[in-house]
Amino acid sequence: MMTGVVIIGAGHAGGSAAGFLRQYGFKGDITLIGEEPYLPYQRPPLSKAWLKGEASLDDLYLRGDTFYDDQNVTTHLNTRVGAINRDGRTVTLSDGGTVAYEHLIIATGSKARPFPVKGADRLPHHVLRSIDDAERLKGAIAPGHRIGLIGAGYVGLEVAASARHLGCEVTVFERESRILARVASHALSDFFTATHTAHGVRIAVNAGVTELSLGDGDVKRVHLSDSSIHDFDLLLVGIGALPADDLAAAAGLETGNGIVVDEHARTSDPAVFAIGDVTSRTLPFYDGRFRLESVPNALEQAKQAAAAITGFKPPVIETPWFWSDQYDHKLQIAGLLCAGTTPIVRGDPDSGAFSVFHVDGEGRIRAAECVSRPADFMAGKLLIARGKKGLDVAVLADADAPLKPLLA
Ligand code: FAD
Repeated sequence: MMTGVVIIGAGHAGGSAAGFLRQYGFKGDITLIGEEPYLPYQRPPLSKAWLKGEASLDDLYLRGDTFYDDQNVTTHLNTRVGAINRDGRTVTLSDGGTVAYEHLIIATGSKARPFPVKGADRLPHHVLRSIDDAERLKGAIAPGHRIGLIGAGYVGLEVAASARHLGCEVTVFERESRILARVASHALSDFFTATHTAHGVRIAVNAGVTELSLGDGDVKRVHLSDSSIHDFDLLLVGIGALPADDLAAAAGLETGNGIVVDEHARTSDPAVFAIGDVTSRTLPFYDGRFRLESVPNALEQAKQAAAAITGFKPPVIETPWFWSDQYDHKLQIAGLLCAGTTPIVRGDPDSGAFSVFHVDGEGRIRAAECVSRPADFMAGKLLIARGKKGLDVAVLADADAPLKPLLA
């Protein structure tokens, strides 16, 4: 018998979808299946407050532990879905059981990108995706430890800041010529390079890691393409994530760097939705398909799927946005960096509070990178959504000129 909604993946997107379904009036069965032993939790604090010992496990949970019972949501934790049978509309669980669905939501997130260098499969190293990873990392870090971080993306740099806070010696290795090369402008890379360096982090760019090996006394060794060798007590590899879309691909759903979905989070099968990090989606303000790894994206698509299933009005499409906290700096980014834009710097990076607006040939903001300038972020996000053309660049560049008039 077909029944209710089954959600695969009890993460930020899956847990939120269960809540939105009830909020939008869904009365049928909801079954939430997650392979981790935890109820849905927030990952952003794992590299920040949680690693520094400033947040407890309870602080991580999306909802109180009675929420799912109260909302009549059946949870299967510690349970992996091994297969989706679209013809019979069932999923097969790791314990051999099956659960039937009328609508399926796939929210399987992303997984750490494997590190394909010599020795990486044998040398113990850390990755950071889950509470269990974070527990292992936290348990291994001690003041004075030498920590090697491979990959200078947001998660790696947040861990660098937290590890400095904990009194460790930190070295970051980045293969590209600058940190955050794939996700941020030159101005932002320069700012965070200067910030981390001032906090005592050693940053090595153009640093191609060729091998990991074990030295004397449990030392972990990083070999670089310039033949130098660097010794550490602990290594974290943070070289990005891949979509956990194997299950969907095996079930014959359309995939390509994630599960292909429309603006209602619907896959190539009308009974199946996909949300969060695992999706490849379109955005109204940008050409192409995107796989966004962010909490706002997970929430937006959870609303889209819940609205489509219940017939509730679809959410207003948001400008994509993201945040990262490093030391005392709060970075907020709205929009996506695109080719053919000119960066307009507003404020002095040396002051620790500035923004970079990326303006296209028609005078429209396409992306706004704002460091500890929340009002710039809010205005930038709205201006991107409205696609307002012909903006006065002199106003954007003047940190004292209010942006509100541009919104009129
Ligand atoms: P996830 O939250 O990853 O959940 C997916 C779940 O599905 C996992 O629990 C997984 O075990 C489970 N699963 C997978 N396959 C199966 C299966 N076959 N059967 C059952 N269960 C399965 N975003 C921001 O916006 N700002 C930040 O500052 C930020 N910081 C971050 C810091 C860290 C350390 C990490 C790891 C991520 C951070 N993110 C941040 C990204 C954000 O957490 C993710 O975008 C968000 O969690 C995506 O939600 P999701 O539900 O798609 O995936």
